[in-house]
Amino acid sequence: MQFLFRVLRKHNMIAYEIGSRLYLNITNKCTCACRFCVRNLSPGVAGYDLRLEKDPNFYEIISAIGDPHGYLEIVFCGYGEPLIRLDTVKAVARWIKVQGIPVRVDTNGLANLFHGRNILPELEGMVDAVSISLNAENAEKYNAICRPVFGPQSYPALLEFIAESKRYVPRVRVSVVDIPEVDIEACREIADRMGVGFKVRHYNPYKY
Ligand code: SF4
Repeated sequence: MQFLFRVLRKHNMIAYEIGSRLYLNITNKCTCACRFCVRNLSPGVAGYDLRLEKDPNFYEIISAIGDPHGYLEIVFCGYGEPLIRLDTVKAVARWIKVQGIPVRVDTNGLANLFHGRNILPELEGMVDAVSISLNAENAEKYNAICRPVFGPQSYPALLEFIAESKRYVPRVRVSVVDIPEVDIEACREIADRMGVGFKVRHYNPYKY
């Protein structure tokens, strides 16, 4: 019944299933304006409309999750940058972890600039995995593709965020989108050098 409810309720989705994972959409705000962002072209992903009328609060997110048991992982994801809402991520992640379900955060890695402090120690014990958007092999290209609000300080801060994540989160990987101007192999070398996982995301703006 709960599954049927989720399938039919496609507008304003806070929690949505893809395969055996549940994804949480807790804000549409972001500190980047990536040229490839799905938000530029589509109202959501995988048939779910992820445009939010407002940021959901803790209780609304918990209610949208329902029973978390049975999911392989619960993922804080887009359609926006979840770590902008750090306190909410921490509260919901704590609730999920109490029930024994692994938690992942997909992030643009600029949360330390946004909050003005190193937030990674605050995720220790609550977050099992992070997937961080690297998206380019150097700062110049990153700034042109991702257009971060923090300007030139963003790429060094992103690399620092990746390195720092390894100290507090058990599984760390970086991702790139396979648009033509990105040197995928150079990005893979950065990931190898930093000792983190690597994932190439296929650019498909029409997957909604
Ligand atoms: S970081 Fe993610 S949500 Fe933000 S603009 Fe880039 S692709 Fe979109």
